[in-house]
Amino acid sequence: MNHISHWINGARVAGTSGRSGAVFNPATGVHTSNVDFASVQEIDSAVAAATAALPGWRATNLSRRAEIMFNIRNLVQSNRNEIAAMLSAEHGKVVTDALGEIARGLENIEFACGIPHLLKGSYSEQAATGVDVYSIRQPLGVVAGITPFNFPAMVPMWMFASAIACGNTFILKPSEKDPSVALFLAELLKQAGVPDGVFNVINGDKVAVDRLLEHPDVAAVSFVGSTPIAKYIYETGTRNGKRVQALGGAKNHMLVLPDADLDMAADAAVSAAYGSAGERCMAISVLLAVDSVADALIKKVQDRIPAITVGPASDSKNEMGPLITAEHRDKVAGFLAGAAAEGATVVVDGRTNVPADGFFIRPSIIDGVKPGMRCYDEEIFGPVLNVVRVKSYAEGVALINANQFGNGVALFTRDGGVAREFQFDITVGMVGINVPIPVPVSYYSFGGWKNSLFGDHHMYGPEGINFFTRSKVVTSRWPDPRTSSVDLGFPQNR
Ligand code: NAD
Repeated sequence: MNHISHWINGARVAGTSGRSGAVFNPATGVHTSNVDFASVQEIDSAVAAATAALPGWRATNLSRRAEIMFNIRNLVQSNRNEIAAMLSAEHGKVVTDALGEIARGLENIEFACGIPHLLKGSYSEQAATGVDVYSIRQPLGVVAGITPFNFPAMVPMWMFASAIACGNTFILKPSEKDPSVALFLAELLKQAGVPDGVFNVINGDKVAVDRLLEHPDVAAVSFVGSTPIAKYIYETGTRNGKRVQALGGAKNHMLVLPDADLDMAADAAVSAAYGSAGERCMAISVLLAVDSVADALIKKVQDRIPAITVGPASDSKNEMGPLITAEHRDKVAGFLAGAAAEGATVVVDGRTNVPADGFFIRPSIIDGVKPGMRCYDEEIFGPVLNVVRVKSYAEGVALINANQFGNGVALFTRDGGVAREFQFDITVGMVGINVPIPVPVSYYSFGGWKNSLFGDHHMYGPEGINFFTRSKVVTSRWPDPRTSSVDLGFPQNR
């Protein structure tokens, strides 16, 4: 049985709490590893290591920090196949999907390579006679990232790339369901030149998270996960005086208007609903079909489903893997089981004809869904597409805006005027116009509205830099120093 430990101060450290969790291969159902769950003392030792590393790291010049980010970028890129295999073995997603996740995470590291430019402040000369005023951005100190199971490589990269490039030291608490990638990344960061203590990985559960939320030396917490936990993290962390960004769950709608290219819309709906078995916070989970095209659209979606190959990642022809755990598979199956009693119709039932081993459900469709039904009101986080039939564009927009979540949304139309109206009116943070999964590129920022995000900062990009720094304004007056010396060497900063 494989044993997964912590990474503190530049080395693997075996847990001593006596508590651990089971890690499975979701494609086979086999219990493959045990992961240590940290005690309060182990969290404290990681925070102590991060605190000790902070003065040296925040004083490391920007050129050197940028060089290290370039090294990380190259090491992740050259090890991507190994990371993808490890990720797939614990998460279950197919290897092409895992490689896509790593590529999107790498974008954030590439963004952070520009840290000298990103941390430029502003300067006002002669604000008063002989007085200049300027602003600078400084790191917060020791910061923590708490991440979900569904992107074990990308979401940590969303956080640590900006956090450490800005001069903070970092403690990652990955999901206990697929923790190996985090430790492998820690090794790559060390190889890249990240000093010991700057990046630490603590595995664990609520005990570890709660200690991070209350530890006086942790300045900020970045969280991605489900809405109830995001709310808890935000409320507890801010009550303890920390800066918190907490991204939560989602229920993403795709509104298809009668003028849309229905084949393109059907391709998009199938890709966005069933990719990664629907375990994406940007997955499309509700298809809003305007009545006049609803039957034709649903038929096109339905017709595409038999071609989707479902099975373990070990067979490269498979496009969709299993769900993360047996419990989660059963929960998702429960939405299908309960749909008829609520008045909806399961038109494609993915509970049958699944591989014998592992935690599989095939792509499914529930038609005739309405608000008030469990399958509509709750996040399913599986390969189940709800179809809600609406009479008009206006009814579709009203439904989306009434939803408790506001992570992603997509509109399919050929009408630019309507698309513009949609972007103006919709109460959702990330909007796709004929794009089903509008995850922003790394030089914008990622974040939903309403119950999909608690806090003021979105993740990564410019808002990530703001989240992981605070600004300082200096007002200065100087006598003319009139000092100089002769040096014919080319000026350099390393
Ligand atoms: P989760 O909320 O169960 O767990 C997330 C993290 O919180 C894990 O590290 C976990 O160990 C920790 N945690 C769990 N319960 C806790 C508790 N009671 N107290 C303290 N910490 C706790 O989420 P998950 O199942 O790992 O991930 C799936 C969820 O994440 C979905 O709801 C999905 O929509 C959401 N998600 C959101 C985004 C986004 O950007 N908005 C991105 C990815 C996933």
